Amino acid sequence: MIDYEEMRDPQKRPRYTGLATFMRSRWAESLEGVDIGLVGVPFDGGVTNRPGARHAPREVRNYSSLIRGVNQATRVAPFELCRVADIGDAWVERPYALETAHDEIEAFYRRVLAAGIWPLSVGGDHSVSLPILRAVAAERPLGLIHIDAHCDTGDDYMGSRYHHGAPFRRAVEEGLLDPGRAIQIGIRGQLTDPDLWKFSHDAGMRVVYMEEFYRMGAVEAAREAKRVVGEGPAYLSFDIDSLDPAFAPGTGTPEVGGLTTLEAQLLLRGLRGLEIVAADLVEVSPPFDQGGITALAAANLMFEMLCLMAEARIAG
Ligand code: MN
Ligand code: MN
Repeated sequence: MIDYEEMRDPQKRPRYTGLATFMRSRWAESLEGVDIGLVGVPFDGGVTNRPGARHAPREVRNYSSLIRGVNQATRVAPFELCRVADIGDAWVERPYALETAHDEIEAFYRRVLAAGIWPLSVGGDHSVSLPILRAVAAERPLGLIHIDAHCDTGDDYMGSRYHHGAPFRRAVEEGLLDPGRAIQIGIRGQLTDPDLWKFSHDAGMRVVYMEEFYRMGAVEAAREAKRVVGEGPAYLSFDIDSLDPAFAPGTGTPEVGGLTTLEAQLLLRGLRGLEIVAADLVEVSPPFDQGGITALAAANLMFEMLCLMAEARIAG
């Protein structure tokens, strides 16, 4: 028995109630009638150091119940613009075999794409971006906005080519990304080798190291991203370790001297107008989190990413 009509809408009920879907969106068991699908990828088999990102989708779903429907800064109301639903997790039935796990993730995303859905994903470690890109960039290479402390264009590491430090190298090699339309922002931390990110530079990707970001500021960095990526479809990948560990301690490879949460919000809002057809937010590791700081930041940044995708979806 429901007395209040508005209680029929899960997003209007008290935010602490009900089952935790991403941003209290509708839980969709079928892929029909969905424009933007919110997806969890509970997989961290590509991590080279501290694990735990497999627990992120559940934790971000929980914290994302705090998210409301209207973006205060841009006035975008993504749930009004598009049919947004939580379409569950990309199941991995063989999670301890990295390459076949990636094949399973790719197969899931191919079904999502075939249903006409634009996916916004929560990993998982950063290795999951590669199988997602294999599905979403199958038809043509995409532009890339990649926000991270690391370029993730490394090479083989201890016998693996597909660990979380290499997805964007593999994606360029496989023709999934147009490196001339790719920008990487927030790069910092000590190197194992002075030429660690040589691939990014050789391929022609625009690399904005943290020192340059600090000088230019978030708004100007967004302008640079729009200049580099330009017209055409693009993928947005946000590694939570781009944030300073003060704002996101719950991650596997923390690097001091990073973005504030506010800078990340301003940076993302500055990307309005880009044709972002798919996105992911990765590397949240709840076992290393403190009081949910990281999961809360992730949920809020996911909302900013959803706003970008919703505007792009109705523009196209
Ligand atoms: Mn990364
Ligand atoms: Mn990183």
